[in-house]
Amino acid sequence: MSETKIIDGKAVAAALKAEIRSKVARLQHSGPIPGLAVVLVGHDPASEIYVRSKIKQTTEVGLASIEHRLDSDVLQEDLLRLVEELNEDPAVHGILVQLPLPAHINSTEILLAIDPRKDVDGFHPINVGMIATQSGGIVPCTPLGSMKLIQSVRPDLAGLKAIIIGRSNIVGKPMAQLLLAQDCTVTLAHSKTRNLAEEIAASDIVVAAVGRPHCIRGEWIKPGAIVIDVGINRIVDEQGQRRIVGDVAFDEALGRAGAITPVPGGVGPMTIACLLSNTVDAFLRETCPD
Ligand code: NDP
Repeated sequence: MSETKIIDGKAVAAALKAEIRSKVARLQHSGPIPGLAVVLVGHDPASEIYVRSKIKQTTEVGLASIEHRLDSDVLQEDLLRLVEELNEDPAVHGILVQLPLPAHINSTEILLAIDPRKDVDGFHPINVGMIATQSGGIVPCTPLGSMKLIQSVRPDLAGLKAIIIGRSNIVGKPMAQLLLAQDCTVTLAHSKTRNLAEEIAASDIVVAAVGRPHCIRGEWIKPGAIVIDVGINRIVDEQGQRRIVGDVAFDEALGRAGAITPVPGGVGPMTIACLLSNTVDAFLRETCPD
């Protein structure tokens, strides 16, 4: 068994936030600062926790935080009007509408209404298309954070074989584009993939974004592979304790993977750090386009 490096997502995120904080401090001297607007509809407990954490970290790095909380029975047209106001507001450089939205709201219409230049989540089709064609665009935060973690242990990925398990629009598909842009040979696996274990065993990089606790077994992992575990699964363990675990059987992967992210403390902290970084980048593109 060789030693597995545990990739410390909290430390990488803290370094990124320190960089953002000093960038923002420099901007403060010369004029306006970047602003991130967060829109929360209703009282979904998980969304409340995410939004609280996002707002706290936004202000910690010195960005302006603009918060809009709306009742769960808000009308589609009122939410659309708010998005349009935020699009026009020069103090707002990033807009984040927390998902999921209540069932009566057409989420696609809301996300399409966000100005792509302020779409710091990177979900707008304009940004999706720009990433796919490698012509810029705002990269979704979780894949962006995952790439930074991979490159924290291995900057040059050219020629490596990468597999992503999970093909969602917010994680799997953009992750595949980013790895492709780094010259990896990419496999995008999903629930209909045959011989998943074999596909994983042939891969130098494994990104798990499934949402099923410990569904990726340690013995499937190629010795020395880099493993990024995006999954967040709430379980009750054998001792009856509530815990958050990833998609990868972490203990089995130790001694086999070359490097692995823990859950919690891996990809999670990077997601918010990348949201802040996307907001500063959006501000810089708006205020100094060259
Ligand atoms: P989705 O539910 O949208 O997608 C899950 C994907 O997993 C689908 O493509 C599905 O395939 C695939 N899948 C399901 N079962 C299997 C299986 N047995 N074998 C192979 N593939 C399978 O999830 P998300 O992408 O939104 O999220 C994935 C996980 O990442 C979740 O745990 C989520 O909580 C977490 N997450 C973490 C974030 C963070 O900040 N750390 C941010 C975002 C998500 P198919 O398409 O065929 O149905």
